[in-house]
Amino acid sequence: MDERDYYTERQETKTTTYVCPKCRQSYEFGIKWLRRTRKKELPRGASELDRAKFAKARDYMVRIDDMLYCPNPRCRSRFEIPNSQTVVFV
Ligand SMILES: [Zn+2]
Repeated sequence: MDERDYYTERQETKTTTYVCPKCRQSYEFGIKWLRRTRKKELPRGASELDRAKFAKARDYMVRIDDMLYCPNPRCRSRFEIPNSQTVVFV
């Protein structure tokens, strides 16, 4: 059983402010995240190992976006999201 089977997935957009490394302007960006919420029950066919893992499973969010485009028309720089944290427990 894949670990994803323990969760229901939902895409969310969180607004975060980042500073463009090139033009130093700060802008708000809508960052896409995938929220994984633990299911109420394990699906059929779960093994002992699945049960053990499921018991410890926690809700978390995974960041989908990696790169941003600066909205400044004189810049348009492409840069990586400065915060390297891509998984957040909720
Ligand atoms: Zn810029």
